[in-house]
Amino acid sequence: MKDRFGREIDYLRISITDRCNLRCRYCIPDGVKLVPMGELLTYEEIEEVCRVGAELGISKIKVTGGEPLARKGAAKLIRMLKRIPGISSVTMTTNGVLLAQYLDELKANGLNGVNISLDTLDRDRYQEITGQDRLLQVMEAVELALKSGIRVKLNAVLWGEVRDSDWQGLLELARTRPLDVRFIELMPIGAGAGMDGYSNELLLGKISERYGMAERDEREHGNGPAVYYRLSGFAGSIGFISPIHGNFCHGCNRLRMSAKGELKPCLCYEDTIPLKGLLRQKNQEGVRAALVQAIMGKPDAHCFESPKKVTEKKNMIGIGG
Ligand code: SAM
Repeated sequence: MKDRFGREIDYLRISITDRCNLRCRYCIPDGVKLVPMGELLTYEEIEEVCRVGAELGISKIKVTGGEPLARKGAAKLIRMLKRIPGISSVTMTTNGVLLAQYLDELKANGLNGVNISLDTLDRDRYQEITGQDRLLQVMEAVELALKSGIRVKLNAVLWGEVRDSDWQGLLELARTRPLDVRFIELMPIGAGAGMDGYSNELLLGKISERYGMAERDEREHGNGPAVYYRLSGFAGSIGFISPIHGNFCHGCNRLRMSAKGELKPCLCYEDTIPLKGLLRQKNQEGVRAALVQAIMGKPDAHCFESPKKVTEKKNMIGIGG
């Protein structure tokens, strides 16, 4: 259905856990409080939200977290969601650490695509960012996912002292492999709020200097706000998601839901609409009304370019990105 600004809302991002097996510094601060397991929506409750959402026009679902594959049974949830009439695409965003282990099951259950978060190909830098020496495991998962035929995108957030080798290493993957590499500007959310991000505009300039002029790629790549470019001789495309230097809210098509079942109309604001009570009372009409309220409650735009106006205080780990 359309929101008040005429935008078609057809995409739901659902977080299924706030637990993660990595500790990315811009995402999870020390001492973050986890939601007790009993407070998470069950898979059946998540399925019910998606079923009612599909009746309202939701057709694409992204499963996220925390780390979605850190929750037992995540691959089975994919099958449950794929069976809902009206749902045409179910994708997942993961840090890739457990992906190789679950890939066959995810593929068999119909996963349409996987976004793998990977900020650098430098093993030391990876460990510095994530707190774990897991780069080789993630790289293996990237190769296996490509081999399996699942659509692969890599998501990178550049922040702090960015070295050219960080983004160049990732770009080189797109030269030889049919995957999209997307650069997401750091948002002033949670732990990321006090950190220095890197402008995608600046990055595009550097890429064009190094690899020749990038050409806009207008083909359909997926659900969201990324602007894509092609580089000569590259198998994959380069995407830019630029919440800070390129407001894309006019095309926003999404709702979010936290692992506790709170609907979130916009990433930037703290406002949420709770669903868990309604689900546990089996109040289907209430769930429907809450979804409509969330869609109609979407603001016209986020305010990431003015961090003082951002009211969201949670960390990205509790939101799902
Ligand atoms: N664990 C999964 C993963 O790594 O993809 C899903 C959750 S993670 C919160 C989703 C995405 O949010 C990751 O790509 C991560 O890099 C990104 N992210 C976390 N904090 C961010 C911030 N402050 N600004 C922009 N992206 C952020």
